[in-house]
Amino acid sequence: MEYSSEKNKSATKKKVVVVGGGLVGSLNACFFAKRGFEVVVFESREDIRCAKTVKGRSINLALSHRGRQALKHVGMEDKIISKGIPMHARMIHRVNGKRSPIPYGKKGQYILSVGRANLNKELLTAAEAYPNTQVNFNHRLLDWSPETGTMTFLGTDGTEKEIQADFIVGCDGAFSATRKQFLRRSRFNYSQTYIPHGYVELTMPLRNGDFAMEPNFLHIWPRNTFMMIALPNLDKTFTCTLFMPFEEFEKITTDDELMNFFQKYFPDSIPLLGVDALKRDFFRLPAQAMVSVKCSPYHLNDKCVLMGDAAHAVVPFYGQGMNAGFEDCLVLDEILDQFNEDFSAALPEYTRVRVPDDHAIADLAMYNYVEMRAHVNSKYFLFRKYLENA
Ligand code: FAD
Repeated sequence: MEYSSEKNKSATKKKVVVVGGGLVGSLNACFFAKRGFEVVVFESREDIRCAKTVKGRSINLALSHRGRQALKHVGMEDKIISKGIPMHARMIHRVNGKRSPIPYGKKGQYILSVGRANLNKELLTAAEAYPNTQVNFNHRLLDWSPETGTMTFLGTDGTEKEIQADFIVGCDGAFSATRKQFLRRSRFNYSQTYIPHGYVELTMPLRNGDFAMEPNFLHIWPRNTFMMIALPNLDKTFTCTLFMPFEEFEKITTDDELMNFFQKYFPDSIPLLGVDALKRDFFRLPAQAMVSVKCSPYHLNDKCVLMGDAAHAVVPFYGQGMNAGFEDCLVLDEILDQFNEDFSAALPEYTRVRVPDDHAIADLAMYNYVEMRAHVNSKYFLFRKYLENA
């Protein structure tokens, strides 16, 4: 396959290869293209804009201020928020069916529920719209050389291809192949932690043609050692996610065990989910694992940088994994301005500035699981008290 197409010939700057066309990779491609680099993205999956089914992690995500700032920088904010649903508060569901809101911030502040697939599709299309960008699907990075910048990709036809890059941006997620070269180096710190909890996603269908619950909330059923949450979708369904220790998931093996469990802990959700759909969704896939990855430095010489989950996969409870990855793009962009695109100076600065912030987000995400599944229970009472006294 020929990668130096006509549109790439117009570019005069370095050739930047972005590994991974997920959320952060496709946004990052826009950032580098906007600066005028020759950008080539290699994504291991097929093009999700043509795929019949899109395999991914969560169906929807919470987009917050830091993510929006990055989207704004490449002119994508309005397009994305027009398809987002504002969530002004958490809605706490008690076992007895009572519900009460806990606002996220001051009046008017909110986070947005956005569909992962649509967001990724829009970002890929935005990246491809730059004349100096090319996106290649069905290319899995196997390895690369920090000395020469030669990258080896595996195509779906089983053949290996070598690609030359001046600069490599590893946006290939929590199990990054780009990161392998970093792991071979001295003084690279790396840790990964699987939490003992997994998750399953359930779909709450429409009710009489409308949302089955109040749409402008992030619904939470906190049950101290586990919880269920629900975020609204544009098609008026909700995606519910049950987070629970794996050992608890393993206890539920039959329809009856499942219904007894839901009857005991989430009774108000059963008529909304529908018994048949609940049974079908719950047993469709095994519970998925969640990993937290920390590493440092994020750069290797002036040849490569890790961004997004490849640099810092976090557990999802703070709703900031993608948002932090989007912010990575903005921070690097500002530093490239500061250092006049001198990668040898900009990349150490990026690591210096970014590692403490991303590590802090990873820690906050771990903490917020306890906040969401347990502490909101006591906040509920405090808030009730506050309302009673207001
Ligand atoms: P990924 O989304 O993992 O994308 C990596 C891409 O690289 C993929 O397309 C993959 O196919 C490709 N790839 C992998 N290996 C290779 C290779 N060798 N060669 C080429 N391509 C490769 N974040 C939020 O901000 N808000 C939320 O509400 C939120 N909710 C979440 C809920 C759940 C259940 C989970 C699991 C995560 C959630 N997150 C949330 C986190 C968010 O999903 C991630 O932070 C985000 O997807 C990271 O984007 P990324 O592009 O870095 O990595």
